[in-house]
Parts: sequence; structure tokens; C-alpha cells
Amino acid sequence: MALFTCFQCGAQFPESETPPQSCSICEDERQFVHWSGQKWLTREELAATHRLAWRDDLGLGGIGLEPGFAIGQRALLVPENDGLVMWDCIPLATEAAIGHVRSLGGLKAIAISHPHFYGALADWSEAFGNAPVYLHGDDRRWITRPHPAIALWTGDSLRLSDGIMLVRAGGHFAGGTVLHWRSGADERGALLTGDIATVAMDRRFVSFMRSYPNYIPLNADAVKGIADAVSPLRFDRIYGGWWGRNIASEAKAAFEASVKRYLSAIA
Ligand SMILES: [Zn+2]
Ligand SMILES: [Zn+2]
Repeated sequence: MALFTCFQCGAQFPESETPPQSCSICEDERQFVHWSGQKWLTREELAATHRLAWRDDLGLGGIGLEPGFAIGQRALLVPENDGLVMWDCIPLATEAAIGHVRSLGGLKAIAISHPHFYGALADWSEAFGNAPVYLHGDDRRWITRPHPAIALWTGDSLRLSDGIMLVRAGGHFAGGTVLHWRSGADERGALLTGDIATVAMDRRFVSFMRSYPNYIPLNADAVKGIADAVSPLRFDRIYGGWWGRNIASEAKAAFEASVKRYLSAIA
């Protein structure tokens, strides 16, 4: 029996003798099956060819695979009084990286923006005593490896603690979630967005897509829905979904300008 990981998107599947027939996340129009065909790696094959590296990303600890794998996911570690919340997940957990996270206080929970970052959520949860994994229930059909630690939530927001709140923004995925960290950015507030609002290459704007690799834009209603979900939140910084893809300051104004620019571009 082996745990197979999809080479293209990094989602891990349940234990099986042979690789799964297909990857539902990659078959979806928002992702793609590699043009040379669906490829799988066992967890051991993935660990033999990749390592996990951790470094600071604008004041937050991050973990990602080296060399880059799947869509280049990186997880962020948001500090709380009683442990870390892992925001978004990566396709692999190694003893070294688990030890590193333990040295920082360990995980009390995992929260994930959308299915492209589900990765090896079960391995990370199990390493920390089945820490709860918060996924929005509207995306439940995309779970590739069901696990008892998965805590599906519904509605528009979920408070994880005094300082951390999950907000359902929708758009890219129906359950697309952002994390509001009240004391982030030196108490000015930070928003962790994955690619629900993706930070542009100039680090001054965000943009929105139904599919990034297949260039399918979001419609105006969906973007207005994201803007409405975010508007009550106080923040000065946005952490996007990839290494260094962040807006360091004045991010709320940048977000609002981005919504305006996007809506006029598709009008
Ligand atoms: Zn896949
Ligand atoms: Zn995505």
C-alpha cells in the first residue's frame, strides 16, 4: 500500500495498491492534466527527490518544497499564544520540517484557502496529534484524502481565536477562504489570501481568476463578492500564495484599487 501524490497539483490520495485512476482536481477546468499524461509519485518517491525548506517570508515563517513541485505551494506559520496555525498546506511532510515546526511551538490547527493547497494535510495533522484541518464545506467534493481531522465549516466566517478569523470569499472556488490575522504586520492587520486574491508580479495589486493556468477570468459578481467579504476587515499587508508574493504595506487601498481596475477591465 502506498500514498500517491499527484505530480501536477500535489494533492495526496488515500492508501492504495496502485495509483488512482485520475486526479479530480487536475481534471477540473481550473487545473490541467500534464500533456504527457497523469503522473503519480509515492510519498517515499516524493521525499527522495525533494526536501522541505523553511525561511522567513515578510516576517512570517514559511515552508515549501525544493526543488519546486506541483504549483509551488508554500505554507505560512501564523503564531498564536498557544501554538501555530498553518495557513495553506504543501504536498509533503518530512521529519526535519516537522521537527522545525515543533521547535517553534507546534501546530494547533491547519486552515487552507482552497483545494489547490490541500497537499499532504493529513500527514501534517497526524504529526501534531490530529490537529484540526479547517476546510470550507462548499469545497468538500475536492477532498482527495478524507481524514477524521478535517473540520468542515460552513457560512461566511469562522473565528479560530481572538486574533485569527477565516472568511469565505468565494470566487476561484465556492469555498475560497482568506485568513485575517488581526495582529499581523505589527498590529496593523494582515490578510492571507492564497490565490483567492492573487498578488500580482508588481506587488502593488491583486487580481482574481477562476483559473490561473487556463486563463478563465472571474465575473463581476464573483469579484464583488470577494470585495464585500474583505471590506469589513482591517489590514495593511497581504500575504499571497507564493514565496515573496506579498504586498508589504497599504494593502487595503491596493486591494480596493485592484477591484476597481479589474471591474473596469471586464466591463
Ligand atoms: Zn492533480
Ligand atoms: Zn488555485
